[in-house]
Amino acid sequence: MLDSDLGQCDASLHSAGYLLSSDCRPLSWGQSLPVYLKYGTSMTDDARQAFDDAIRVWKQSMGGANLFEVVDRYTPDPIGSEMDPTSHLIGMRSGANWSQCDQNVKLCGAKDEPAKTLYQYNEFLVDADIMINQDFAFSLQRDPAKYDLTSIALHELGHVLGLDHDDTATPQVSIMNRTLSEGIQRGLSSRDIQRIRTLYGF
Ligand SMILES: [Zn+2]
Repeated sequence: MLDSDLGQCDASLHSAGYLLSSDCRPLSWGQSLPVYLKYGTSMTDDARQAFDDAIRVWKQSMGGANLFEVVDRYTPDPIGSEMDPTSHLIGMRSGANWSQCDQNVKLCGAKDEPAKTLYQYNEFLVDADIMINQDFAFSLQRDPAKYDLTSIALHELGHVLGLDHDDTATPQVSIMNRTLSEGIQRGLSSRDIQRIRTLYGF
């Protein structure tokens, strides 16, 4: 559920659990928190609710730190608007729009991905956009036959903050576990929390 494969860096750097730049630095927003998010008009009401809930969980887990702020709940988000670096967008795409991968739209979503986070950086992260694959069946109500939107929102927001995947299962399953989208998890592990504390100095 990430837009690039950063396989060049040392395994020990990967195991630290952070998104890495092409020169293997952990990526963060530095002092530029909160991340100002815009909800696109393409989002369903359930998706808006899931992200509201996930933002609240992240905040509570970090002792009330203001990590995200939603500044627009219905911003126009036509295909291609995820390329705008000044707007950190959450939206939904389907069909050919989900897989679109050309110079104008670099979404490149795979059919088996329920969501993905696209990001850009220089010294720090400068843009992050979350796109959700609307061809999946999602639920806000813990329907085990569907994908849990709140779990997915928590995971993608972890990417936005600078976390990479963490498939370690003990002592707790990380919200950044790659197989998380197949289950329901609505809380962060102590490892997830500590990583963000370390990254931002909370
Ligand atoms: Zn992911």
